[in-house]
Amino acid sequence: MITVKFGGTSLADAQRIRHAADIIRANPDRRFVVVSAPGKRFPEDTKITDHLIRFQASGDPRDFQPVEERFEEIIRELDISLDLSADYDEMKNEPHNADYMASCGEYLSARIMAAYLGWPFVDTEFCVFFDEKGRLDRRRTNNTLQEKLGSLEHAVLPGYYGAMPDGQVHTFSRGGSDISGALVAAAMGADTYENWTDVDGMLTADPRIVPTATTIPAITYAELEEMAYQGATVLHEEAVRPAWDAGIPIHIRNTFRPEADGTWIRSENIVRDNPVTGVAGRKGFSILHIEKEKMNAMVGYVRKTLSCLERHHVAFEHMATGLSSFSLVVSTASLADCRETLEWEIQQEVDPDALTISDGFAMIAVVGCGMIDRPGIAGKLFSALGDIGANVRMIDQGGSQMSIVLGVTEDCYEDSVQAIYDRFFINMNVL
Ligand code: ADP
Ligand code: ASP
Ligand code: MG
Repeated sequence: MITVKFGGTSLADAQRIRHAADIIRANPDRRFVVVSAPGKRFPEDTKITDHLIRFQASGDPRDFQPVEERFEEIIRELDISLDLSADYDEMKNEPHNADYMASCGEYLSARIMAAYLGWPFVDTEFCVFFDEKGRLDRRRTNNTLQEKLGSLEHAVLPGYYGAMPDGQVHTFSRGGSDISGALVAAAMGADTYENWTDVDGMLTADPRIVPTATTIPAITYAELEEMAYQGATVLHEEAVRPAWDAGIPIHIRNTFRPEADGTWIRSENIVRDNPVTGVAGRKGFSILHIEKEKMNAMVGYVRKTLSCLERHHVAFEHMATGLSSFSLVVSTASLADCRETLEWEIQQEVDPDALTISDGFAMIAVVGCGMIDRPGIAGKLFSALGDIGANVRMIDQGGSQMSIVLGVTEDCYEDSVQAIYDRFFINMNVL
């Protein structure tokens, strides 16, 4: 049995939905289908989820118009009889929380796919559950999915959302339909979780930066999770665990090139000549730097600083400590509502000699389970970046030794990714 998930680009219009349905029907083992909201049809297009988020913010019915029009066009072109007018009215006219509104694209998309395939629609609002803090309740979700799907031959489910204990709709973070698909696959004990997207699989680097990046034929769950976490957004990082725990292989495939082999994700160690499996990265980081003379001897100094971050729910990604200073890397977005207060609280709490928060950093991760016992990787990295004049502001070798993360300024992010890629995948013998 195969659980499949189709992403937004794969379902952006009627023709693509028809094509996805052909893929589903081509193998009778594809019994459970999880869908995203329609995404972009062309580069300048707007995803349905972004229209909905905009409508929630503005409350202007004109912002809902493109949503209704897109779904109505799809229904017309698919030539199915499905009346969603009561749903649109409820979405437009009733007061709702932001998560409810963001989830509507998946709901409507699944209703359409279910009608087109002639399969039952099962709403994840009643099978995916979060606790009062918004954390996924995996046990309850697993049991309920088994209960609701166990007697069904087929079903179509919307991705991306579930419900809070009080019944309010709650979404995962963006791209979260991948998680829903993994949860369904895990609950149903699928033989494979097929994740259909718009690229040939997990590539050795972000194809928007390195157009010549190649497909990774096989990758371990741990490597994939790390790549996804570090910015290779082809699969949501939280989609890896449910499949990994249940021992279900994930197969990332291209809807627009179903003949391509895709990427297989399994747990067994994969033997490769190249110690590096892929390069991933993200922009949008800030470095919080604190100086305090003889800080190394002050027990609890860092803890007190971190407690200030904790109060504002600011998580840190990396930390570097020294004799009389330390730095924390945090996402710039997490400082949006608390920057001044946080600075003031840190001043009060630990009385630093200097405190700065600098924005505009990107983190680049070199990932590979084969790096553990290979000397010289960091040397090659520095040399690649030195050659293009990029200044490395931070380095962190993850505890698992499966990744090395470098911080550079955002203006040299793309060039740095390309330079690292060239050194590890093209000119591999250059030191
Ligand atoms: P979907 O809508 O199918 O969920 P996403 O847009 O979430 O698809 O993810 C696919 C996109 O991820 C690709 O189009 C590509 O631009 C981007 N991407 C970033 N890094 C990588 C990578 N290492 N390999 C493949 N795709 C990547
Ligand atoms: N539609 C949601 C988003 O755009 C979830 C998803 O596509 O996975 O983020
Ligand atoms: Mg996605």
